[in-house]
Amino acid sequence: MNIILLGPPGAGKGTQAQRLQHERGMVQLSTGDMLRAAVASGSELGKKAKAVMERGELVSDELMIRLIEDRIAQPDAAKGFILDGFPRTEAQAEALDRMLAAKGAKLDRVIEMAVDEAALTERIVGRFTCAKCGTGYHDKFKRPKVEGVCEVCGSREFTRRKDDNIETVKTRMAAYKAQTAPLLPYYSAEGVLRKVDGMTGMDEVYRQITAALAGT
Ligand code: AMP
Repeated sequence: MNIILLGPPGAGKGTQAQRLQHERGMVQLSTGDMLRAAVASGSELGKKAKAVMERGELVSDELMIRLIEDRIAQPDAAKGFILDGFPRTEAQAEALDRMLAAKGAKLDRVIEMAVDEAALTERIVGRFTCAKCGTGYHDKFKRPKVEGVCEVCGSREFTRRKDDNIETVKTRMAAYKAQTAPLLPYYSAEGVLRKVDGMTGMDEVYRQITAALAGT
């Protein structure tokens, strides 16, 4: 099954994609994580993307399409994937359709994670991640059970995203509204769009997502 999680920054796409990956064996393809890894490694792609990401703007369609095309071609993606953060523009959505058609594959569901804009900044500026295993936490909504220790791998090192600050969040939100939200009618017309309430608790959001995936 191939699905997209679509929603503004802070909607919970990464959290839900991680859980789908653990519980259903689908592979999470997060373009944001791929870009952050590229920046950390100092690769050509990372050098091109770094400043754009720090401003909260979108990296070019050309680079993003190439990145996801290479990733989808890897063997683990054949058993089904969850796209988290891609597509973000109409050009990316059209390229994805072409890539899947060329493989004889298709998109089974696009899940819209609907959230109140007012809540997003608080969600975003409080989040942090285990530096070792990538498990996500939040200052207010999901602290580790033992303070300062990752519940999953025991690491004591955590990181915060450079772009998770109030100023950048405004730019990221504007990019979502102008370039990504217009994909909702596109997928609605294809008959694959389902909406979940991203303002409920994490378990309830997950339940709604799995209900939306049933029967595909
Ligand atoms: P995310 O982790 O999905 O919030 O992405 C972090 C940043 O990476 C975004 O603000 C963009 O600068 C960049 N990015 C991630 N995915 C894409 C994409 N599909 N198209 C363009 N830029 C992207």
